[in-house]
Amino acid sequence: PKRIFSGMQPTGRLHLGNYLGALKNWVALQDEGDAECIYCVVDMHAITMPHDPKALPGAVRAAAAAYIAAGVNPDKSIIFAQSAVSAHAELAWIFNCVARLGWAERMTQFKDKGGKDKERASVGLLTYPVLQAADILAYKATHVPVGEDQKQHLELCRDIAARFNRDYGDGQAFFPLTEPVIQGPGARIMSLRDGTAKMSKSDVSDNSRINLEDDADTIARKIKKAKTDPEPLPETVEGLEARAEASNLVGIYAALTGKTKAEVLAEFGGQGFGAFKPALADVAVEYLAPISQEFRRLIADQAEIDRILAKGAERADVIAAPILKETKEIIGFWH
Ligand code: ATP
Ligand code: MG
Repeated sequence: PKRIFSGMQPTGRLHLGNYLGALKNWVALQDEGDAECIYCVVDMHAITMPHDPKALPGAVRAAAAAYIAAGVNPDKSIIFAQSAVSAHAELAWIFNCVARLGWAERMTQFKDKGGKDKERASVGLLTYPVLQAADILAYKATHVPVGEDQKQHLELCRDIAARFNRDYGDGQAFFPLTEPVIQGPGARIMSLRDGTAKMSKSDVSDNSRINLEDDADTIARKIKKAKTDPEPLPETVEGLEARAEASNLVGIYAALTGKTKAEVLAEFGGQGFGAFKPALADVAVEYLAPISQEFRRLIADQAEIDRILAKGAERADVIAAPILKETKEIIGFWH
């Protein structure tokens, strides 16, 4: 049977890339109805970079509210905070001893986020993908809907599962080789200020991204300010090559309208950004309005979100605890 797991870090406000690359697919998988869906707010990952302890619980709530506003239904899917279920940390330790240092050091996210002086990065940032493998395998999840940037981490998760199975599994597939679900034109949305960097919560510039909670004026202003080149839009998709910013804006328009890039260019090819940007802003505003409205309604009721997270953690623990118990037995831990 299919089991879906995915998560987002409470490192800032969720943006259009998070939605189009991941959240939208979370909802689609939930609504297919044939799989158990487990959606986590990964606060343990959020402390791998400098963070504000006082702000973290509020950020967890906001992420949960954004999941629900985007269409994750807490009656159908499990929504919870990672640090509330101890299996994540316990399994991560075991996997830290299964994964090889060379595997972790090859991860591009560590290279990017670790900065120039790796000596100063937290050890947690290095083992981030190992914890991520624990998140997934604590539930023996079969599918993980994520954006394109997570592809390498999912490969590491499979490597850890395979190595564990080989070394300790008696030739049995104790852990599944989990499949990433990376799909749609929104799998990699780029920054509005730099077409070669992905849109990120942790980017210092708020103008680099469209947040799910941005109001209409903010969205229009950010798109108006978005970096572009001076050329009009090309007539064909080939014409977008080597034009990262133009390609990204056309891609966002396509993802929001369900059209292909070719269809968008059939409409806007030959026109300048002066015409295209307002059209894109209109589409983005219309698309996000119901999500941001629902988000504001939900975030006002803190007690309700806390109830959902508490219930979710209980349900998650019911699934993870026996898998962890068996893993510890296999490893030979003291009973
Ligand atoms: P941070 O900068 O703190 O890493 P983030 O924006 O990268 O934040 P994450 O919490 O790391 O967000 O990732 C949550 C999910 O959103 C993952 O599935 C990830 O692949 C997806 N995602 C993140 N950024 C993008 C993007 N620009 N385009 C498409 N998907 C994205
Ligand atoms: Mg990220």
